[in-house]
Amino acid sequence: MILRIEDLDEARCRPEFSVASIEDLKWFGLRWDEGPDIGGPLGPYDQSKRRHLYLDSWEKLRDGGFIYPCRCSRRDIEGAALAPHDETDEPIYPGTCRPPNSSVGAAVSAAEPKTLPSRTSAATTSGINWRFRVPEGEEMRFVDLRLGQQSGEAGKDFGDFLVWRKDDVPSYQLAVVVDDAAMRVSEVVRGEDLLTSTFRQLLIYRALNLKVPEFYHAPLIRDDQDRRLAKRDASLSLRELRRKGIQPEEIRRRFLR
Ligand SMILES: [Zn+2]
Repeated sequence: MILRIEDLDEARCRPEFSVASIEDLKWFGLRWDEGPDIGGPLGPYDQSKRRHLYLDSWEKLRDGGFIYPCRCSRRDIEGAALAPHDETDEPIYPGTCRPPNSSVGAAVSAAEPKTLPSRTSAATTSGINWRFRVPEGEEMRFVDLRLGQQSGEAGKDFGDFLVWRKDDVPSYQLAVVVDDAAMRVSEVVRGEDLLTSTFRQLLIYRALNLKVPEFYHAPLIRDDQDRRLAKRDASLSLRELRRKGIQPEEIRRRFLR
């Protein structure tokens, strides 16, 4: 088991948060074999220290014609006429900046150098989004270890997705694939709200020619009103429950049905 700190979002991540997470997870009873607190052969285990790896992969995706620069704002995409939404209610990218199939390489090499992510500093903004071009109409499949056969259609169930954000940060999709492959992760266990993301990630694995792990998507923890918990439900954070004197065994009993 590996503990990895996903701290790429500078606005939301502070070193004291990871320290607190580690403390809470240990209190809850989790133990890991590799992590930022104990080291390991495949570190560093903080994503903020792995930027060069994401950049290498971004470069491969660009050179392979898998991604293209996108100048749309979130508002542009949401405002696109009748933009269909995927199951997580993310609007499907309408393809505004998507180059025609035959000219992917040309369009990308024509991008000005200043639009490329900076190698030197995480603080330098590249000012442009980079999107993965999904193979329109292709049926993607994988067998989930809990839910069985899963399938989704590229372009319909999910659209062209971000691999690099204009604030010069790799997307979640790119970073976890690069890390899971580099850290030789064999099984990914995560919430079932990320089922659709798995299709996106499969495309990145394929484009980068990386070994795909197995996936287990767990049911989401819900509150008494059967609503799924979000980060804003601070009252049900491990830290808060612990502060109230609730024991780990009770949390398992109450929430992990
Ligand atoms: Zn665009």
